Amino acid sequence: MEPGRTFIPGIPPPQENSKPAWWFAFQGNKLLVEPNGSTAVIPFVTDFKKFGLPLTRRHFLGDLDGNPCYALELAEGLSLPKDLTLEGLRQVYGRLDEDLFWLAARAIQIVDWDRTHQFCSRCGAPTIQRETERSKECPKCGQVHFPRLAPAVIVLVERGNQLLMARSRHFAPGMFSVLAGFVEPGETLEEAVAREVKEESGILLKDIRYFGSQPWPFPHSLMIGFTAKYAGGEITLEDSELEEAGWYTIDNLPPQPGKISIARKLIDSFVERQKVVK
Ligand SMILES: [Zn+2]
Repeated sequence: MEPGRTFIPGIPPPQENSKPAWWFAFQGNKLLVEPNGSTAVIPFVTDFKKFGLPLTRRHFLGDLDGNPCYALELAEGLSLPKDLTLEGLRQVYGRLDEDLFWLAARAIQIVDWDRTHQFCSRCGAPTIQRETERSKECPKCGQVHFPRLAPAVIVLVERGNQLLMARSRHFAPGMFSVLAGFVEPGETLEEAVAREVKEESGILLKDIRYFGSQPWPFPHSLMIGFTAKYAGGEITLEDSELEEAGWYTIDNLPPQPGKISIARKLIDSFVERQKVVK
């Protein structure tokens, strides 16, 4: 959140609807926005019905500075008013106000959870939305279904004035990043960091420290960032998901992920610290 701006999450929608609201409306993974020159705007009106767009789901998210925020799913195959378009979340990053971008990231995960948890995964009965909690209950077997979050660790590995960067097979051509991977059941975050880096690159770590975290709504990860120091080993990519890895100084960094990502924040923090050393 920008300083001075406050988001208060909520679940039961307000009784009274006279205030303008932020409407985060999705069709599939695409967000409804109003393009405005090089920027994009989230619809901010009292009643979404004015657009005449049929909905399949609607969830209250909370209040941003006293204005309600809603996550919506639009019906398939509708025709949009000419001043509105549908765009992927990655495409609108940097063009939307940052607070609204992260609320959109929250909204798409709620819509996706609602869409994929209509039936109990244990017994198949239709689920019932709880009114005061973001969960769905199965009336038949009692199973409770919460929004799914997949924790993933991401780590900046340092060796003196160098950092470890690698290319995954599914990256855009030429792009390198720091290493990341999903946490497995039973692991601590630090264990996941050490295992992932050893498996992927053959490198051993010490001094694993928390850096920060970031929701990553593609589709429902939570990225937990760490820094760590090199403790031994040589880069080996056998049985690895990586196609290339190496040690880089800040003078010869390869192309990196965009500023949306915590990967970039980790790399930028290393660059800043190295500049101070110089
Ligand atoms: Zn059930």
